[in-house]
Amino acid sequence: MMRHARTLALLALLHAGAAPTLAAQSPYSSSWDAAVLRRADVRAAMAHVEQGMPKHIEEWIRIAEMPGKSQHEQQRGVYVKAQMEAEGLRVSVDSIGNVIGVRAGTGGGPTIVFAAHMDIVHALETNLKVRVSGDTLHGPGIFDNSASVANMLATIRALNAAKIRTKGNLVFVATVQEELGLRGMNYWFAHNPKPDLLISMDGGLGPINYGALGIYWTKYVFTSPGSHTVTSRGKPTPVKAVADAIQTLYALQYGPLPEGAVINVGQIHGGVIYNGVPQEMFVTVDLRSPDPILLDSLDRTIGRIMQDAATKEKVGLRIEVEQKNQAGGITAQLEGARRHPLVQTAVDIQNQLGLTALPGAPEAIATGSTDGNVGVVAGVPSIAIGRSKGGNQHTLTEWADAPSALPATKLVLLLAVTFGDGVKVVRQAPIP
Ligand SMILES: [Zn+2]
Repeated sequence: MMRHARTLALLALLHAGAAPTLAAQSPYSSSWDAAVLRRADVRAAMAHVEQGMPKHIEEWIRIAEMPGKSQHEQQRGVYVKAQMEAEGLRVSVDSIGNVIGVRAGTGGGPTIVFAAHMDIVHALETNLKVRVSGDTLHGPGIFDNSASVANMLATIRALNAAKIRTKGNLVFVATVQEELGLRGMNYWFAHNPKPDLLISMDGGLGPINYGALGIYWTKYVFTSPGSHTVTSRGKPTPVKAVADAIQTLYALQYGPLPEGAVINVGQIHGGVIYNGVPQEMFVTVDLRSPDPILLDSLDRTIGRIMQDAATKEKVGLRIEVEQKNQAGGITAQLEGARRHPLVQTAVDIQNQLGLTALPGAPEAIATGSTDGNVGVVAGVPSIAIGRSKGGNQHTLTEWADAPSALPATKLVLLLAVTFGDGVKVVRQAPIP
């Protein structure tokens, strides 16, 4: 109810064409000059986004209903590629499956990457049918991240319809395997020159993210020769090693997020029968911290805990690393990051669009768990911006608020227009 009322108020504000809340009091530099809103081509593009909303929402639903489990994004990729080609972008698909559409600039401007991941976490057999009730769309993956893919296509069309030219190349990357550890974006970075700016489109509308939460996923597999129950007495068993290791793991002391860390054992599997000692049993650990030193030291500690448990119980241990996405969120790494005009410009545009942070809530935060992390760690000014309002992501009851994709898309458009000609500081107040 509350959410709905706020959305309507937001739309009213947008239709009134102005929001007087530009954060002129911010101590950070920005490239945003609200005068851009008076440009005829920008107004035409904004109008195109607004008028296109019914089709935009239809396309969003169409994308969400296509299979999209990580590594099975092909149908979505084919669709996105066709749409980008229809808009005259230079389109390619790399060997991991990312779809890249380049909207060439006139020259002399920055290269700006806009990234939206196509994959979802849900199993292939999941029913992806979207249910619409009022302004709310219900369906697995509707929010994370079909919304951003639709916003990206709407942005490209609006830029073209309004014949907006930028000096810099706008590179639209529909990525794959984000949910498996940012694999698509990591692949793109490994095979392309570093861009000047990276804007990841992923997450609920809210604070701008400009840091990177490091994420390590490790599988610890305990092994034994096994035995029939009758002859099992006193024999080594992976079960005891797993129990011991998990007890010790959860007794570890470390500070909480946002500065500290979080550890979750997401899976324990093993054994196939009642009447035997399992030959194999594994636990998976999801370890996250914005602090690379803490991340590595906890990773080593966990490895030691697992090894000690295996040794004590006389069972084998095999360690399989699923992902090691580095952290970029401590003060030294983010020196200057908050001050980069990209962050404050996104905040300023959000304020202009009426997406003002709730009182007391931060406008930008030094964390992030999106494709943007890859840029942060590579030293590229990077942010993650929201795609719509919504919730319950990664569950079957995922939902998204359709009208909120309008300001989210305008945010993408205005960032493209603002930075397309370069990063220039138009407002530089004292640094705190
Ligand atoms: Zn996502």
